[in-house]
Amino acid sequence: MTEIDYKAKLDEAIVQSDVVKIFDNLLTVGVEKWASDIHIEPMENYCRIRLRIDGIMEELVQYPKNLHESIISKFKIESGQMRPDEKRVPQDARVSNVTLTNKEIDLRANTLPTVRWEKLVMRIVDKSKDIPPLEELGIEWNNKNIIFRHLKYPNGIILMTGPTGSGKTTTLYACLEYVNTTQVNIITYEDPVENKMAGLNQAQIRSDIWFTFANGLRWWLRQDPDIIMVGEIRDQETLDMAMESAMTGHLVFSTVHTNSSSETITRVYNLWAKPYMLAGTFNLVMAERLVRKVCDHCKAKVTLKDDPKLSYAKESFRNFDKEQLKKEVMSRNISEQQRNEFINDGMVTIGTGKDPETGAVCPICEGTGYKGRVGLFEMMDFDEEIKNLILDGKSAFEIENHALSKWMINLERDGVFKVIKGVTTLDEVYRYVKAKFDK
Ligand SMILES: [Zn+2]
Repeated sequence: MTEIDYKAKLDEAIVQSDVVKIFDNLLTVGVEKWASDIHIEPMENYCRIRLRIDGIMEELVQYPKNLHESIISKFKIESGQMRPDEKRVPQDARVSNVTLTNKEIDLRANTLPTVRWEKLVMRIVDKSKDIPPLEELGIEWNNKNIIFRHLKYPNGIILMTGPTGSGKTTTLYACLEYVNTTQVNIITYEDPVENKMAGLNQAQIRSDIWFTFANGLRWWLRQDPDIIMVGEIRDQETLDMAMESAMTGHLVFSTVHTNSSSETITRVYNLWAKPYMLAGTFNLVMAERLVRKVCDHCKAKVTLKDDPKLSYAKESFRNFDKEQLKKEVMSRNISEQQRNEFINDGMVTIGTGKDPETGAVCPICEGTGYKGRVGLFEMMDFDEEIKNLILDGKSAFEIENHALSKWMINLERDGVFKVIKGVTTLDEVYRYVKAKFDK
């Protein structure tokens, strides 16, 4: 059966008010359409189900509001972790190892009481999804040189930053896969374990029984690791342990919940890290965002006229070292023509959403103009110069500006290069890189 058949069955289940069938088909449609989240929402006069696909919400179906309460309570009962009679407070559930059309998924669900009824959101964690090799994530030239150099170091901290859904977990796993050989002992410490990988010793933290990130790190160090991955650094204790592990000869990978690499420096100071500790242990901070790719089938070149995003894009390279810019452009295979068309005419590639032959809705992207996603990357390499600036007590802002004038490709610059190559659009880049663009 295809996703369209399951959608038809879902519609049928709604007509029949068959709640069990609604759930089965809804989850299958979600998994088949590669949705990351399913939202079940009460509206004023009806209810609706939306899916988040490639980062964007999309309405799947509407159903009559008299079905809503039985749908929510069915899920609460099935999860075994929510109280069906409690409708006043938010509740959480984690359902592991659900098998749907040969895929094994975990569900992380939560309910929220709204002014109408409860809203249910389910995050789909697809555990059977293969981790793509690091080379295929869209990390280009200088960023690529930086990351591969750091993956060869035996000790230090490599941090990945970005909001939920930014692709950071996949990139982190791809890094672990790259360093994963029989000669090293790799231990991970996660909440939850999102992907089971061969050759890794993966553990699930249990903060309810004091098996926290910090406690876990303490124990794992006795397990003779070479490489450690700590799911997230959220407190001073975990940061201290991570730094201590790096100082004692371990390569440590982790994530922080910040928006950029420079914000990460500020965060680390807020967790009471000393400059000499930061300079002594940090190797690399990466940031990532996933942007939608222009649909290959219906792409066309257009000229942007007064779009302010165009001037922001050009502005982003103003203080960049000219030689470095030249190398970056050449190594990314951006042609003279592509470069001139963008700079002189504001010419970019977009998906029209229409089939170029027939003019009907594009069958590949269903009219959205986008198909699939690619990462935008930012690497802050803690080289000697950066370490000296840290030791001199320079602010995160000054450190970032220094790096940006020399060699650093931040999210915005990486995005603009990908726009010039026709991979994504300025709308996508500035949807995620908002620092300089106020709508
Ligand atoms: Zn298309």
